[in-house]
Amino acid sequence: MRIGSREQVDAVLAHVDARLDDSLARLYDLIRIPSISTDPAYRDQCRAAADRLSGDLASIGFDASVRPTTGHPMVVAHEKSASGPHVLFYGHYDVQPVDPLVLWTSDPFEPRLELLPNGDTAIVARGASDDKGQLMTFVEACRAWKAMTGALPVQVSILFEGEEEAGSPSLAPFLDASASELQADAVFVCDTDMWDRETPAVTTMLRGLYSTEIEIGCADRDLHSGMFGNAARNALQVLSDVVSSLRTPDGGVSIDGFYDGVKELPEAVKAQWKRLPFDEKGFLTDIGLSIPAGEAGRSILEQVWARPSCEINGMSGGYTGEGFKTVIPARATAKISFRLVEGQVPEKIRDAFKAHVRARIPADCSVTFKDFGLAPATVMPIESPFLTKTLSALSAEWECEAALAGTGGSIPIIGEFKRRLGCDALLVGFARFDNRVHSPNEKYDLSSFHKGIRSWVRILAELAE
Ligand SMILES: [Zn+2]
Repeated sequence: MRIGSREQVDAVLAHVDARLDDSLARLYDLIRIPSISTDPAYRDQCRAAADRLSGDLASIGFDASVRPTTGHPMVVAHEKSASGPHVLFYGHYDVQPVDPLVLWTSDPFEPRLELLPNGDTAIVARGASDDKGQLMTFVEACRAWKAMTGALPVQVSILFEGEEEAGSPSLAPFLDASASELQADAVFVCDTDMWDRETPAVTTMLRGLYSTEIEIGCADRDLHSGMFGNAARNALQVLSDVVSSLRTPDGGVSIDGFYDGVKELPEAVKAQWKRLPFDEKGFLTDIGLSIPAGEAGRSILEQVWARPSCEINGMSGGYTGEGFKTVIPARATAKISFRLVEGQVPEKIRDAFKAHVRARIPADCSVTFKDFGLAPATVMPIESPFLTKTLSALSAEWECEAALAGTGGSIPIIGEFKRRLGCDALLVGFARFDNRVHSPNEKYDLSSFHKGIRSWVRILAELAE
């Protein structure tokens, strides 16, 4: 039988259905290990979770090992007996802390099933969704392929880290050190949501980020506005002038060269986004607003997924306490961040922003910058065969058109895969928006787990074509 043939896929899917209880039991065993990465008291448990996963992968026929880092270890596994493309799957075995414990209805590390009002059943536990439940969908799909056919349809490497909830400090150096070993044709990450309960999504578009704090300095001390008002420069006024100069009246950003390299969305993506069930009005009314504030003539999805932005995240200076003080502040600060899109070079945006600010500071005043994040956007090209095949496998499993999603946020690890391995990443997740990830009573719907496994079975087959 041809690898990935219809009959073969059906047989593997039937095996997944028949053995779901065993899959669930293995997920439970992983969940029972409280691998909280941010709390040093759980260091041994993080190691135990890595050991468990490594052993589990070895039992399916992966060449698996636990690799030390300066923090929690990595799990690396390969099963490359197939010909054809090589995919790298990423997930994380660490979980968030559980406090406040009183808000949990049961032991966070003793998974249990709960009947949901919609008739679905959910696995309730810390890590049920983020990311143990999600990563196990991939592991169990590989297990089913091996059990039924003795092989995987494509070459698979797996990387599980144990520090994702702690900012992934070891990931970049580890990728650098293991670049030749982990080099793949595409990276798959299972740590995201579906579009809605019925519609699966592949997230291919992540915005980058530049964030900085600026401090304006004027006089060498705070001044009395009765004695110095008019004559002495006010740091908050200078700051306000700078800040208000950043935006154009139609919602754009007015920094010179800010849109250099920014491309218009491909028509196919625009059309797909138009078909997505998305309520533009509801998006704003849900947060108590009604008038779109972004660039005129662009849809909300385009604004938050595919257009760069500039936002003021905080401003301070002068007297902000009770009552009143007629002060002319000597210093004022603002925290400002930019979401960046494909085509924008983060370093150029940083330099253009600084030049824009410096040009507006009076000669006897000063400005200093304290930079925080600087990361480029990442986009999987729409014509990538990995993307088309993944979308078609998901559409077959869920019996509807899979959504091609962007995300307004930035996921730094995706940029690291691109920068250090040169691999594009596809984010395919089966979590639902109500999974209470990071919160008490975290859950993962049984249908997410079951159909998630089935989805990976189909994706692996499609990729072999
Ligand atoms: Zn996660």
